[in-house]
Amino acid sequence: MRVAVVGAGSAGVTTAWLLHGSHEVTLYEGAARVGGHVYTVSVDVDGRPVPVELGAEFFFREGYRGLHALLDRMGIRALRDQLRVSISLGEGATPVVVPPRDLRTLATCLPPRVARDLVWLWRVGFEGERVAQQHERTLSVEAFLARSAMPRDVAERLLLPLIASSWGVTLEQARALSAYNVVRVMGLRPSQEAHSYRLPGGFVTYLEALLRDAPKVTVRTDAPVDSVDRDGDALVVTAKGERARYDAVVLACDWRNSAAMCAGSAVLSSWREAFAAFEDYPATVAVHRDRSFMPASRHHWGASNYRLVPGERPRTTVWSGRPTNTDVFRTWMRPDEREPASTTHVARYRHILCTTEHPARQEALAKLQGLHGLWAAGMYTTGIDNHESAVRSAVTVAQRLAPDAERVRWLAPQVDT
Ligand SMILES: Cc1cc2nc3c(=O)[nH]c(=O)nc-3n(C[C@H](O)[C@H](O)[C@H](O)COP(=O)(O)OP(=O)(O)OC[C@H]3O[C@@H](n4cnc5c(N)ncnc54)[C@H](O)[C@@H]3O)c2cc1C
Repeated sequence: MRVAVVGAGSAGVTTAWLLHGSHEVTLYEGAARVGGHVYTVSVDVDGRPVPVELGAEFFFREGYRGLHALLDRMGIRALRDQLRVSISLGEGATPVVVPPRDLRTLATCLPPRVARDLVWLWRVGFEGERVAQQHERTLSVEAFLARSAMPRDVAERLLLPLIASSWGVTLEQARALSAYNVVRVMGLRPSQEAHSYRLPGGFVTYLEALLRDAPKVTVRTDAPVDSVDRDGDALVVTAKGERARYDAVVLACDWRNSAAMCAGSAVLSSWREAFAAFEDYPATVAVHRDRSFMPASRHHWGASNYRLVPGERPRTTVWSGRPTNTDVFRTWMRPDEREPASTTHVARYRHILCTTEHPARQEALAKLQGLHGLWAAGMYTTGIDNHESAVRSAVTVAQRLAPDAERVRWLAPQVDT
């Protein structure tokens, strides 16, 4: 078959790699680069290039089996780091560093009020474990907190702001998120170790390796698709005024663009409605060199640094330069905030909002798969909002389009839910 894959983020690239050899694949990407939310940039620090992730960065051992399998197959070694975080709970107050690294950081956890908070964070993890094991996807964070018996003051002062700043949302939006999604993404359960992996050359290197391993795929960057429509026995894709006919089209881009592409087609109206049902919010991420976003003492810097000061919208800054011990940071900016003067890169995203209604929207979309020769892939179409879902979405589509392909049969049993 002639197959068009629209969007060269991880879902689109993985779909193209899986279908390579089974079908004639064209991969359309609207931007000048591949990767989508996988966005590795390079910051010049004293003449040295430091790779920094402007999008997806953290992944664990648990819940990312498909990604690890792809990395192994591409011969890419992921490095494991301890994931230490700092939490600043008051202006000028010493931040809490967990897990502590030494006596000095241990001392940040010992004041009685802090120790009480940390015990509650640990205890709530057991409730998180239950939610994760029972796949309770329609339980809200608000209901989860009520059930966990966490004292209200700890929830309002600590846990809710932690969640809100991890996604860059308001406290109200955080309450409505799916607790299952939050527990899985944040690792809010005792069975998940505080660690993360990283790829030395940047996250994008594995997508580049997949494309090298799929030489027959035609990759068209700078080719935003305007519309998809049915015409007789084919689907017509229009990009930059050029029309091309395909037997199948996989929309591996976001829900908004997918809805817009189908908007002019009466035949694809049910698809358009299913895409348009997803909820999102704007997120701005800046890479900069401004130390004032970090705890005052370098000794208290963690991989993620949460600023949860009362009266302020909570905010997270990632110490992107930690592998090279350089002052390079990545901050999820507040909506009303200007990026710091030292900013080197900015990205503006629409991020999916995984509320308790999200699973029903995914189910509605899943029922349409294959209708009129159209397919949907992408992190938002399945599971939780992590990278593994993007990989899994590609497998789900490829299993129907090329069930006997060696790559599909190899990856399908390894991918996590
Ligand atoms: C700031 C940020 C941080 C994140 N951090 C993490 C993390 O640490 N760990 C984790 O597991 N996940 C993280 N994620 C989640 C991340 O979204 C997924 O991991 C994954 O990268 C999503 O891949 P995707 O292919 O589904 O979508 P995308 O990466 O969004 O890919 C969609 C592609 O479609 C293209 N496109 C859109 N419209 C068109 C069009 N009309 N024509 C052609 N192409 C089009 C886009 O340009 C894009 O390249 C993060 C997301 C964001 C935004």
